[in-house]
Amino acid sequence: MNYNDDITKIKGVGEKTAKLFQKLNLTQIGDLVNFYPRTYFAYPDAVEELPEDFEGGTISILVRIQKKVFTKHSARMDVTTTQVTLGDTPISLVWFRMPYVRNQLEPGKLVILYGPMKKDNTGYKMEQAAIYTPEQYRTLQSSLQPVYHLTKGLSNQTVKKSVQASLEELSIVDYVPEAFLSKHGFVELPLAYEKIHFPLTMDELGEARRRLVYDEFFDFILRVQLEKAKEEIEYHPIELPVRNLYDKVRWQLPFQLTAGQVDCLEAIERDLLQGDCRQRLIQGDVGSGKTIVAFLAMLRMAENGYQSAIMAPTEVLAAQHYETFREYCELYQVPYPVYLLMGSMSAKEKKEVYAHLASNEICFVIGTHALIQKKVEFHNLGMVITDEQHRFGVKQRMNLSVKGEHPYVLVMSATPIPRTLAMILYGDMQISTIRSAPKDRLPIKNAIIDEANRTKAYQFIAREIQAGHQAYIICPLIEASETTEAENVTEYAKKIERLFAGKATVGVLHGRMTPEEKNTVMHRFAENETNILVSTTVVEVGVNVPNATVMMIENANRFGLAQLHQLRGRVGRGSAQSYCMFIKDKSCKDAKRLEILNGSNDGFEIAAEDLKLRGPGDFYGIRQSGDMNFTIADIYQDADILTMVSEDVGQILSLDPELTSADGALIRTHLKQTEHQIYDNL
Ligand code: ADP
Ligand code: MG
Repeated sequence: MNYNDDITKIKGVGEKTAKLFQKLNLTQIGDLVNFYPRTYFAYPDAVEELPEDFEGGTISILVRIQKKVFTKHSARMDVTTTQVTLGDTPISLVWFRMPYVRNQLEPGKLVILYGPMKKDNTGYKMEQAAIYTPEQYRTLQSSLQPVYHLTKGLSNQTVKKSVQASLEELSIVDYVPEAFLSKHGFVELPLAYEKIHFPLTMDELGEARRRLVYDEFFDFILRVQLEKAKEEIEYHPIELPVRNLYDKVRWQLPFQLTAGQVDCLEAIERDLLQGDCRQRLIQGDVGSGKTIVAFLAMLRMAENGYQSAIMAPTEVLAAQHYETFREYCELYQVPYPVYLLMGSMSAKEKKEVYAHLASNEICFVIGTHALIQKKVEFHNLGMVITDEQHRFGVKQRMNLSVKGEHPYVLVMSATPIPRTLAMILYGDMQISTIRSAPKDRLPIKNAIIDEANRTKAYQFIAREIQAGHQAYIICPLIEASETTEAENVTEYAKKIERLFAGKATVGVLHGRMTPEEKNTVMHRFAENETNILVSTTVVEVGVNVPNATVMMIENANRFGLAQLHQLRGRVGRGSAQSYCMFIKDKSCKDAKRLEILNGSNDGFEIAAEDLKLRGPGDFYGIRQSGDMNFTIADIYQDADILTMVSEDVGQILSLDPELTSADGALIRTHLKQTEHQIYDNL
């Protein structure tokens, strides 16, 4: 079988399971083998005596079944119970709705029970324990167990079995030339796939991971390079004779553009006029003022007869850009219409926008990736901008570059990638960096605050609100969860409302609200109709409310550094002094990471410090980095492999640019078979 065979071809995957897999975006066999475990789990050694300090929790015990095991049948459910002793501690065992466990529990038998144990006033109790013979348990213990992302109705066991079956059926051909593999000492691809799912040891896992990281970068860089080679033929300069509005707006802006912003605009102009560079990356830390650069560049296009589009990774941000652009147009009397295009709009609304774009009307369109769907046709698209590119990830970037048109592409990112890495990842682009923040900005003041001192934080927020400012409070969860103790916005907002009654109004924002609800909430906050916004990380990307001066992040120790930096970037966007309070919860054993943020507001510095802390090979399971959205690779941690791949791909293409040799043909087949993973899974 091949990567692009349907998932239902796998033994044991019927319609029903396939539907569940589809919810996780898994439709082909290739998707499944590339669906790496979220983390791994090792069964603990079974104990024959309770540890002295045992307070309850998941445990593995070795016991002999002493008494006959009974099942009490009732209308509601069957309850199976027995008692065992561990050392000299009696333990009650209970299974609900599992009468068949009796068959595994004959008196006299030695078993290992794995599950949650609790202590209450009647003694120790274990419920729903998994039952193993010592041999079975030894087998389980001899390997790491994959733990997958799941969806309701789909069990880890089902995923595990299906992955196992696909690995058996799939013919995996190692398409990377042998010379490179042996040079780097990589394991072969079939083994890497086997071991990323079912490693026996951490070392095996590490080797498998390195190989798959290599492959993910290889695939990406090769595709980008091949696209680039194709596109070179299309280059032609654009003429931009008119610049009335552009100059007028620049002149009327309430602030002076920073040197970095001016450099970017000049670089874009040069690209367009000379026609030899059609893609540019603009890197600028949060708050460096990328939006106005986008607007001015798009205005320059419009004045000269071109349509232009800007794409944002979330609907919240797209809607915000839409409002900003409309305000600019009104304020500066710019005569071009602004349209919004998002997945959540009705079919009728979308159709209207499509019609405008396909007509010869000069306009700005702002949207989410709804913009790059096949249905969307432009009459005269001159420029496409992707904002917060790092959040789109690899796949959408590919899609943009394969879209039929050949507009000038501008990519904006707040991810602080060192220049050498950026040149590899964005090898098809020129890079501009906005180094300096606008002149009027004061550095954000940071504090790490213990949960116990929260009241002080609230008092501080109250003072800022009294002074006319606004505050964000971020919680990790939407609603209360049984498995984690972190704060949730739903209950938290109620608490804040009570606490600030009469003093401040409170808004709530999270990802499960409808787009209209989200827009209303954001709009009210932007207009200072609500003073405090209690939100999940949906505000992380791009949101701009310069009057907000306080960011308070609950359970800050549970977020990634890059994410915290982006969240903090929601304040410090105006001339007033801003503050960020990181609330540390009791699960925080080591605040080193928070200390990094506390000590620096500079994205580049933070990324570098983070890397130093993590160290190479420091992972358990696969870290989901928000940057560039690679599945397994991490651009910072795997920088060495990225460099390696860049050299290898360069070498392959310089000898065989069209991939026509025998080695090249193998690569080509692989790219073709795995195309779906790049282009379809948006
Ligand atoms: P980001 O780079 O994070 O996307 P934005 O473009 O949203 O940042 O800009 C943040 C804020 O800074 C906005 O309110 C914007 O109007 C303002 N701004 C942009 N450029 C300047 C400047 N040169 N001087 C002062 N304020 C600016
Ligand atoms: Mg932005």
